[in-house]
Amino acid sequence: MSDCVFCNIVEGQIPSAKVHEDGLTLAFMDIGQVNPGHVLVAVKPHVENIYGLDDRLAAAVFQTTARVARAVQKAYTPEGVTLYQANGAAAGQTVYHFHLHIVPRYDKDGMRLTWPAKNPPREQLEADAAKIRNALTPD
Ligand code: AMP
Ligand code: ZN
Repeated sequence: MSDCVFCNIVEGQIPSAKVHEDGLTLAFMDIGQVNPGHVLVAVKPHVENIYGLDDRLAAAVFQTTARVARAVQKAYTPEGVTLYQANGAAAGQTVYHFHLHIVPRYDKDGMRLTWPAKNPPREQLEADAAKIRNALTPD
């Protein structure tokens, strides 16, 4: 058995309620269920976070996410759907195997992400954009 709970789910060593499986991704019900229909989409290989995804895995996981989100919308007709994905403890990550949450949402359902916007001046936005552009790796 691996130390990683999601590797164990991918390998079938511990049970999960599966929604979708293909060569690179697995979608299954989150054990906590913030709202009914809360699904996790994980990559099959053990990759800790978004920084370790190559283009092929990144494309595959978002393709599965879009497909499953459409199915959740059809099956539960929630008022909204939030995609949530955490990298690092400060961001709220608790399982260090890349995954994305699909959470059906309702008015006043208690799920909260505060959004403390700083609204900086345009020059600051331009400086920040340049900083990130310079750090981008080529395709
Ligand atoms: P995160 O905070 O994004 O790392 O979320 C990890 C999620 O994994 C939590 O929402 C947990 O409820 C969920 N989780 C942990 N163990 C299991 C498991 N064995 N089966 C399904 N979901 C799990
Ligand atoms: Zn893993």
